[in-house]
Amino acid sequence: MMKAGLYFHIPYCVRKCEYCDFYSISDLGSQQTYFEAIRKEMEGYRYKNILVDSVFIGGGTPSYADAKEVESLLERAREIFSFSPDTEITIELNPKTFDEEKLLVYRRSGVNRISMGLQSANDDELSKLGRIHTAKEFLSSYHLLRKNGFSNINTDIMYGLPDSTVTTLQKTLTFLKELDCEHISAYALTLGEDSPLYQRGYRFPDDDGVYEQYRLVCEMLSDYRHYEISNFAKVGTSPCRHNLKYWQRAPYLGFGAAAHSFYENCRWENPADIQGYIKQMERGAHSLITNISAEEAMWETLMLSLRTDSGVSFSQLPEHFWEQNRSLLQQYEAHGYVKTGETGFSLTEDGYFVSNSILTSLKLDTLHNQ
Ligand code: SF4
Repeated sequence: MMKAGLYFHIPYCVRKCEYCDFYSISDLGSQQTYFEAIRKEMEGYRYKNILVDSVFIGGGTPSYADAKEVESLLERAREIFSFSPDTEITIELNPKTFDEEKLLVYRRSGVNRISMGLQSANDDELSKLGRIHTAKEFLSSYHLLRKNGFSNINTDIMYGLPDSTVTTLQKTLTFLKELDCEHISAYALTLGEDSPLYQRGYRFPDDDGVYEQYRLVCEMLSDYRHYEISNFAKVGTSPCRHNLKYWQRAPYLGFGAAAHSFYENCRWENPADIQGYIKQMERGAHSLITNISAEEAMWETLMLSLRTDSGVSFSQLPEHFWEQNRSLLQQYEAHGYVKTGETGFSLTEDGYFVSNSILTSLKLDTLHNQ
């Protein structure tokens, strides 16, 4: 039996945040048809004998959609796939988009992990980002989750925000630490120069300023395990099992508009709009499948493994690669960007910050010549 994670993309949001380039719409008029299309897409796997041990319901804002639709999605998934008894089931929520009644439905459906966006504890930053909530409103939503028995909560924050300083970020991190959540995702805000938020004339921290903010995140969350570039797990709790699959090249099936899948060494992606996706499901068509070649697989292994604190092991890449890059890796190690162990190497926290430059500097021609 093949083990896999399931991802469901629910592309509805109350309104568009100023920095967001994910596909989402605010009109819920299509939700019934959309959820039905997802259930139909799952039917294609009915006889494949797949064991599911992680589910991630993301978006968008899944909690903005009807909770009964989420419930029936999970019911159908349980009919089609085998579920391991300890399956991690995460749903993404935003403050002000759920109440006790919705939480009851989620719990009844087996949801056991929550991911909720705070982004900042400074209301002026939240308003610049176009978020629909204040810090206080986030807090009351968070307490509602705890009151309803959710004991595994991730909170998302961002740094490098418009007009932000280490002082404003410190306020967010202090607020966050008081919540004592099990998991924290901290992302650097990245915007194209033509994005509307960038053009509003706010002052954005320069590279040194963003690095200073990143260091503050690492220091203030030093009692968490920094297991991936942007992810921290409270010591004694587990990293997100579902997201680890992306970095470990473990199989996952994505359902819904714009969802990606990786299964049996193939990748595919669904149409990135609701109507296109619904039409594709009505026709019973499948998205275009790409086979991953051996050299692409090695490149993916390097790129994805280096995102995590497990790093890449010597046995995962050909010997030539290590021979060609040994002296470069030694230089990175001397500068504190890389840690080499007996079985492989990984990036340090400073290395995470410049991971793209490190990756592009490594000689990969040996991978292409295999
Ligand atoms: S809630 Fe999330 S997905 Fe929706 S617009 Fe905001 S950032 Fe994008």
